[in-house]
Amino acid sequence: MLEISRKIKTDVLVVGSGLAGIKVAKELADQGHEVLLATKMKLASGSSFYPLKASLGTQVTSSNSDKHVFLADITASSRGMHRQDLAEVYVDEIQDRVKEYSDIGVVSKKLEGERKACFAEHPRDIYLLSDWDQIRENVSGIFGRYENLAVLERTVVISLIKKENRIAGALMLDQFNQVVLVECKAAVLATGGFGSIYKHNLNPNDVDGSGHILALEAGARLVNMEFIQFIPGITSPRYKTLFGEHTLAYCRDIVKDSGESLLDGVLPAGLAKKECLDIRSTHGPFTDSLESKYVDIAMMKEIIAAKNEKGFKLVFHKELYENEEEFYTVYLNWLKTKGIDMLKDEVRIAPFAHASNGGVHIDPYGRSGVPGLYAIGELSCNIEGANRLGGNSTGACMVFGKRAAADCIRYLAKARLCAISDQDAKRHLKTVLGNGDGNSVGENSSPESDKEQLHQTIEKIREILWYSGNVVRSEKQLLAALEKIAELQSKMDISRLFEQQETRKMVIKAKNFMELSQLLLRAMLERKESRGAHYREDYPAENPAFSKRLFISRNPAGTLSLEFLDQ
Ligand SMILES: Cc1cc2nc3c(=O)[nH]c(=O)nc-3n(C[C@H](O)[C@H](O)[C@H](O)COP(=O)(O)OP(=O)(O)OC[C@H]3O[C@@H](n4cnc5c(N)ncnc54)[C@H](O)[C@@H]3O)c2cc1C
Repeated sequence: MLEISRKIKTDVLVVGSGLAGIKVAKELADQGHEVLLATKMKLASGSSFYPLKASLGTQVTSSNSDKHVFLADITASSRGMHRQDLAEVYVDEIQDRVKEYSDIGVVSKKLEGERKACFAEHPRDIYLLSDWDQIRENVSGIFGRYENLAVLERTVVISLIKKENRIAGALMLDQFNQVVLVECKAAVLATGGFGSIYKHNLNPNDVDGSGHILALEAGARLVNMEFIQFIPGITSPRYKTLFGEHTLAYCRDIVKDSGESLLDGVLPAGLAKKECLDIRSTHGPFTDSLESKYVDIAMMKEIIAAKNEKGFKLVFHKELYENEEEFYTVYLNWLKTKGIDMLKDEVRIAPFAHASNGGVHIDPYGRSGVPGLYAIGELSCNIEGANRLGGNSTGACMVFGKRAAADCIRYLAKARLCAISDQDAKRHLKTVLGNGDGNSVGENSSPESDKEQLHQTIEKIREILWYSGNVVRSEKQLLAALEKIAELQSKMDISRLFEQQETRKMVIKAKNFMELSQLLLRAMLERKESRGAHYREDYPAENPAFSKRLFISRNPAGTLSLEFLDQ
């Protein structure tokens, strides 16, 4: 029998401690509200503070006259899929928000001169964030000064509870996997993206899309979920190391295991290998919008055909190490600290999942449409569209973190705490877990075999997504993937598995992965065209009939509805 181990009352529950969660929690605590910040791992985590990268950039409006140019850059890269009101807010407010990095303990430095961010057509100011351990220490010190701000680490929020059609609380699993009930007036989700649902990704494991399911179950809508960034990452000599795409300007060739060039026979007439690689060197993520797309498409087609995940060998000119620009030297020196030399080592790359362009549909205050529920940071569908302009995700955490806090403070003035009984909480949990059909109850089931089943299910989903929902997509592939996931789901009795305290967090991850993978695959199926980050082998052209955004919602019975809307 499931027990609620304890109950916590607070004004606002903040979920996640990346840049967005930290910003919003401090803003709310500054105004004297009781804040509980729950975070899956440790404080200052997620993609924001991922140790496998050296720094993060924030793109900042250079001057008043740059505002309309910046907006034009956002519009051009989005291929019609972004929200103009959110973009306007960003270009208007980011100059003030970068000045507030130091208030939350984030170390940032303005780069000398201006630089073009990924997909930007114009250069502008870039601030570099770095030194994750120092930041974590700073944030701990700052948060420690607030009596009204509590942090719960190694705690996973598993469901939001509504009463009178607004947010009233949540259920969490604490560090001992015990169920904790929270009563709150509002909740801010800042849970990041979902890169780790892909077998090969450039994210930490806590970035797993659980916030998307929390929001969807609470009645929020998701939008643009089919637009996901894939970036070439290094598979060897050091797996999951960030690849600096700018080095491709010095790349002579990309080579398959057979020794043949990956690009021979795949480039259209008139596009030379060197020209294609030069274009590819200007942007990290794959996009269908540029001629460089043939590189990523060729990699993924070869991987699918050969079921070979080793990646492709890069052959560089020695001039690579003669470029003395800071942009090159910083990256190449950082690679050296990881023991990688691009000329001496056999360096291989493959597409890795990286960031989600879509997410929870919000207004310019981060409101999700569910009273008392906010979504900010990468979890939200923000100013990115079919492509994600570089350097805006970090900035958006600051801009919309501040705005969500301001609106939430107004909301709190009128909201009251609703009591939730243990009985109600248990009933809610039962509904979330489902009744189960006993499929996974076998005579031979044991804690060990349950754990193994959960592990295998999670890994299988990650593999299915990596092969079928990657750079190259097709109806045949997507339908087959959906079928495989439905089969995994039919073998899983979530409510029975949840009874085992030790593996509860794994059960929730498996449940969320099953739901998220299906909605992602269905969104990819619906968009029967190629646009930005979404490429369909069977519909290789952009089609004006699909110049609408795809919204996903869930009815109370749990059925998903997908709809193209002009919003
Ligand atoms: C390698 C890499 C390079 C990047 N480079 C740039 C760049 O140069 N410029 C740029 O603008 N952006 C960049 N990005 C993207 C950017 O880092 C992210 O979009 C941004 O930092 C996300 O911040 P966030 O606060 O929304 O989420 P995250 O930082 O991912 O934090 C999410 C938090 O939520 C917690 N969490 C998740 N689910 C739950 C749950 N159910 N319960 C409790 N806690 C939960 C996690 O533990 C974590 O603390 C990069 C990303 C990566 C991975």
